[in-house]
Amino acid sequence: MNDAAPYVNARRLVKVFPTPAGDFTALKGIDLQANRGEFVAVIGKSGSGKSTLINLITGIDRPTGGEIHIGGEPLHTFDEERLAAWRGRNLGIVFQFFQLLPTLTLVENVMLPMEINRLYAPAERRERAMGLLQQVAMDEQARKLPSAVSGGQQQRVAIARALANDPGLIVADEPTGNLDSRTAESIFALFQRLAAAGKTILMVTHDEARAARTDRAIMIADGAVVNEHVTRALAALNYDQLAEVQRHVAATSYAPGNVVVRQGEPGEQFFVITGGRAEVCVRQPDGRDVPVDRLGAGQYFGEMALVGRQPRRATVRAAGDEPLRLVALDAATFDRLVTESPALRDELQSLISLRQMQSQVTALADLAQTDAGREALRRLTAGAPARAFAPGETIIRQGELGEVFYFILEGAVEVFVRRGEDETLIDRHGPGGHFGELALLGDRRRTATVRAAPLALGERDGVGARVLELDAAAFESLRQLSGQFAAEVDKAAAERASRL
Ligand code: ADP
Ligand code: MG
Repeated sequence: MNDAAPYVNARRLVKVFPTPAGDFTALKGIDLQANRGEFVAVIGKSGSGKSTLINLITGIDRPTGGEIHIGGEPLHTFDEERLAAWRGRNLGIVFQFFQLLPTLTLVENVMLPMEINRLYAPAERRERAMGLLQQVAMDEQARKLPSAVSGGQQQRVAIARALANDPGLIVADEPTGNLDSRTAESIFALFQRLAAAGKTILMVTHDEARAARTDRAIMIADGAVVNEHVTRALAALNYDQLAEVQRHVAATSYAPGNVVVRQGEPGEQFFVITGGRAEVCVRQPDGRDVPVDRLGAGQYFGEMALVGRQPRRATVRAAGDEPLRLVALDAATFDRLVTESPALRDELQSLISLRQMQSQVTALADLAQTDAGREALRRLTAGAPARAFAPGETIIRQGELGEVFYFILEGAVEVFVRRGEDETLIDRHGPGGHFGELALLGDRRRTATVRAAPLALGERDGVGARVLELDAAAFESLRQLSGQFAAEVDKAAAERASRL
């Protein structure tokens, strides 16, 4: 077998069930791969096709189309006899309802697969079964009948039985679906140990939290796999919402250098990256296109124009030597999801703040050049609140202690200095600007009052200012991380201090 090929390699699996109402396509060309020792969860709504998929992989049912290789063996070409023999030696199956034979003791249940498949010397089988029962902490009950122990205990015995033939692959269809949550956790932990010991595990589960703790979760919706990068990018959505995405996305691909969205054009789609790299550039007032971010699989773009109903704020193009692979979602579906999902809305809000900052604060452009820099910026701003101030509202007040630094994301601010009774307007800053550094670099007293810009003459409403707040520690980290930022802030501080 080719070592580079995945241990489980299912390609373009199709399953059609004939029904009185006509053919029903339960699987529409599914790919599923798992490496040796990998713990893969299969998730999705009831009726999405999970059990159908699992039954094809275990050979319980036959595919209408497609191929299944496991450990290099082409199972789809095997006849029943060969398939049964292969299964007996290579596969362990665990069901939701444990399916122990009620008239056999627990240890006899575990010995059964060895007997059926004539594995191990007859004299060794009991001892081996006891060893497996010990692994699942059921050896002391070995002589009981299944009905004499709890559901969780029966499931542990069923797992010991699945291990009897020392299989490379263990397939479990909702093994914890019928157990209370503490028992479910102990069964899950048992699968984790088996995966760590080198078993490949495919587990269907309804439990999103546990699925997130496996190596990989594959989501099925309407008989198709929802792209893994899409589920990762849109982790804020629930199964129903992801299924909705799956129904509306279209896959596209761009050759290196080609433009996907162009700054200034209207935005009609939202994009999730499924492969390759994208470069985000923003045109500066001096006409230069400056790269402000690079994105990879599992990240998205195009949300700002859709949320704000504004033209594209940046140009995004395929970068690197590989094509940029994307799935595109139409604006109407995107709007519906944003309306339905407060979690997605929150996530978009904070991402948009970060991106506004990246696209406007050119002093941070050096951080955008490396993965580490982008990650640091993301970390530093992740918890930072973006706050909106009404036109004319005071943001900081001269003389007060200052612990916060501000980036202007939208709108503008005006800076006033009071001498005696007189207050003088000395400065105005717009998007991409910043304030608050003098107190943080000096003796902590605010040297000026800053207010959100008032409404312009004749304006009935306006944003005032939306600002991102960084605490003193984050401000200091940012100065350490970005030489460009430190230089700009120091320069601005010197220049501003001279005007007070
Ligand atoms: P899941 O395990 O995700 O809940 P299943 O794989 O059991 O879903 O079923 C997927 C779809 O295929 C469902 O709509 C189900 O009704 C249909 N289906 C499953 N088995 C059969 C069958 N033997 N005949 C007809 N339809 C079937
Ligand atoms: Mg099922």
